[in-house]
Amino acid sequence: MQNDGADLMFPVKDHPSDKPSWAAMHITVPDPLVAVGPGKSRGVTRNGNGTATYHWKMSVPVANYSIVFNAAPYRLIQDRVRSVAGGTIPIRFYVLPEDFAKGPSLIAETKKYVAFYEKYIGPYPFRKEKLGIVETPHLGMEHSTAIAYGNKFRYNADGMDWLMLHEFGHEWWANLVTCADWKDFWIHEGFQSYMDSLYQEHLHGKEAYLQSMAGRRRGIQNKQAVAPREARASYEIYMQAPDFEKGDGDIYAKGALILHSLRYLVGDEAFFKSLRHMAYPTKAMEAITDGRQERLVTTDDFLTIAELDSGQNLDWFFEVYLRQPHLPKLVVETLAGEMRLRWETPGDLAFPMPVDVEIDGKIRRVEMAGGSGSIRFTGGAPKVDPQGWILKAAD
Ligand SMILES: [Zn+2]
Repeated sequence: MQNDGADLMFPVKDHPSDKPSWAAMHITVPDPLVAVGPGKSRGVTRNGNGTATYHWKMSVPVANYSIVFNAAPYRLIQDRVRSVAGGTIPIRFYVLPEDFAKGPSLIAETKKYVAFYEKYIGPYPFRKEKLGIVETPHLGMEHSTAIAYGNKFRYNADGMDWLMLHEFGHEWWANLVTCADWKDFWIHEGFQSYMDSLYQEHLHGKEAYLQSMAGRRRGIQNKQAVAPREARASYEIYMQAPDFEKGDGDIYAKGALILHSLRYLVGDEAFFKSLRHMAYPTKAMEAITDGRQERLVTTDDFLTIAELDSGQNLDWFFEVYLRQPHLPKLVVETLAGEMRLRWETPGDLAFPMPVDVEIDGKIRRVEMAGGSGSIRFTGGAPKVDPQGWILKAAD
């Protein structure tokens, strides 16, 4: 329903800025089906005629595309996990009977994701409701507190379930923090794709993170701005421009790479602070346990937060990377003993992005005030941006 619209299912003002204040579902299904919805179970009515009615209520504002139920002969696996904020989070996994034995392995894996996300972006937002997983025939979706899981327990060699990691992270980047218009959809998918790569660093170290980011570089298209200023329908920004037929537009990989370059520019401390402040602007909001701390956000909100946390003016960074489609190009001239670097941007937009160069195995940062800079060297020509931190046009 995220792209097609919840108005296919029920009367709704179908815009991300208009979350219903709460949502209740009362689903009657024939035995032995079990219906699972968002929020907390408010019980089951046995109707005495071979059907049962399942009552669910999400008592805080919820994206209309999360007002979904799944019905199947589910078995329920219950567990709990400690939150970094104190207290425990109830886990409810509605698993298909044939996969019952596999259920605990996904829960064990998901507990690792709880620890990862809580470390970087603050407490799981819906601690009082539930951490819900519902097995589905489709691949997955971030339905709040009832994550649709259809990855069939296909774990990577290191045990990771990429789909679960991704959809669960949307409890922060989509359900806690929701874009006010689909033009800012990258705050869901780009931020979450960034977290997916960051998990590689969390598990395996910096090199694995850099490799994951390098892999994302191949998929980007640069056909439309990642975060245009004008309103967009979800498909117009989710799908690839210009025909909107193929999925995974630049809001995913390019969005993640933009955050990657921002991390390089402002440094780890400011970057991770700003991620956390984007999720939770205040400590008081982190203490709320039922999801009431959810809020609508825009790209400009993130600009404000990143500027405050870094103490830098970042207008130029957002302008070049997010507000127009084309990548900056780095022009490199190597003369005898000197390398000259110059940024070229569409419409000569300002772009004072510093650049790392590697000289004799040592990495040095070339400042690019005014969009150009130079560095002297002896020996072989320096390697430009050796770790691939900067999103730029290919040579
Ligand atoms: Zn996603």
